[in-house]
Amino acid sequence: MKNTNWPWKTIIEPFKIKMVEPLGITSREERLKLLEQAHYNLFNIKAEKVLIDMLTDSGTGAMSAEQWAGIMRGDESYAGARSYYNFERAIKDLTGLEEIIPVHQGRAAEKILFTALNGKGKYVISNSHFDTTRANVESSGAIAMDFPAKGALDFDKPADFKGDADVRAMEAFVKEKGRKNVIMCVMTVTNNSLGGQPVSMANLKAVQNLCRKYSIPLFLDCARFAENAYFIKLREKGYNKTPVKEIAEEMFELADGAMMSSKKDALVNMGGFLAMNDKDLSLKCRQLLILTEGFSTYGGLSGRDLEAIAIGLKEVLDEDYLQYRIRSSQYLGEGLLKHGIPIVNPPGGHGVYINARKFLPHIKPVNFPGQALVCRLYLEGGIRAVEIGTLMFGKRDAKGGFLPAPMELVRMAMPRRVYTQSHIDYVIEVLAHLAKNREKIGGLEAVEAPLVLSHFTAKLKPMAEEKTAVQPGGRKIWKR
Ligand SMILES: *Cc1c(COP(=O)(O)O)cnc(C)c1O
Repeated sequence: MKNTNWPWKTIIEPFKIKMVEPLGITSREERLKLLEQAHYNLFNIKAEKVLIDMLTDSGTGAMSAEQWAGIMRGDESYAGARSYYNFERAIKDLTGLEEIIPVHQGRAAEKILFTALNGKGKYVISNSHFDTTRANVESSGAIAMDFPAKGALDFDKPADFKGDADVRAMEAFVKEKGRKNVIMCVMTVTNNSLGGQPVSMANLKAVQNLCRKYSIPLFLDCARFAENAYFIKLREKGYNKTPVKEIAEEMFELADGAMMSSKKDALVNMGGFLAMNDKDLSLKCRQLLILTEGFSTYGGLSGRDLEAIAIGLKEVLDEDYLQYRIRSSQYLGEGLLKHGIPIVNPPGGHGVYINARKFLPHIKPVNFPGQALVCRLYLEGGIRAVEIGTLMFGKRDAKGGFLPAPMELVRMAMPRRVYTQSHIDYVIEVLAHLAKNREKIGGLEAVEAPLVLSHFTAKLKPMAEEKTAVQPGGRKIWKR
């Protein structure tokens, strides 16, 4: 564990580059055509036509030379592979949990866990369920309930731990429903759905107390445990001298189990795990694992993947890495604020969320201000981001029309160890240009949108021009 107490203002990328991949450079003209062909849905754009890809931080990171070396050493034996034992040791060492089950990604862990829990009609409580977690809770017949901290939705007002759970509201709910009807508490660290905001140790402890008192098992959804631990070091009283690894261990000590999408803080492109102490529950989980994922010493992964995860889980706790990591999203956030672009403040660990409702007040929620911004960002700069708003979360009326979602955000996710500061400077420059010309950005209309997970496949088009607010003398909305 290094902790250099870096004395300089400029925080640098703490690595050098030994393998490169060209960016997808295209012209504006080409991108306009591509946008039309993609029906204004960036999930339909080929990655090689994207210059800076900020769609997600999931599985998009760069592995280290050490991880690639591990890939070569991977043991591909069906049962009892050496790579599995390296994987198991790394996770036991970090979490202190006994039963370690590999899975191919986070949602496989969720599917297995909630199927094994078999809580039809019962409740799972959380600071906020991530969308696949919620979907898997609900597909098991249980009901997912979120208890975000007060103030989490006040995007403009910074606070240190906006990812916290509202413990009082949780307790009132448990009392009302009866503890037997609450089968699990899941704390998502960091809180992905609410802007990648961290959870404090104090809040985790309060939630653990509540769970102890009512005998509810507490699991961490720990995709970004290292980023969360580093925020605790930076922001929570009493932790500024504690090594991040110890903070992470303290977080896991509070939990009865954990599930992880290793595509985030294990610094790999694919993988995940489920870990717990409850032997009976783990037995059920392993049976389900064998049914759909694979034998319990590989769980749908190659031996080399297990090896890379074992290495990544250690690398991610390097404090020079974490300093660079958290600083990069902060840097983007500061750059956007300087140009008057409203963001969820402060920036989260894995990216910056732009408040599109506030940025483009002239576009009604049903005309997808977030998606309009995402498309314009691609058109002008070749940058790919993702809408988290009405297109993703809007409920639908009887005719299938969209109803406004509670928020209209655009997430600029930061892949790990992939882009440099000049890439981010470029992103800031493009967004500053959009900010100056924001009233010229028009809304969109849905042409075709399935009722479930519509954002992946929806087709859209620019609003008819007479309906769009163009400033006199302004450019046409989507064409030059
Ligand atoms: C990504 C993520 C998941 C789902 O993991 P996948 O690997 O995408 O299946 C679950 N929870 C959180 C908090 C996540 O960020």
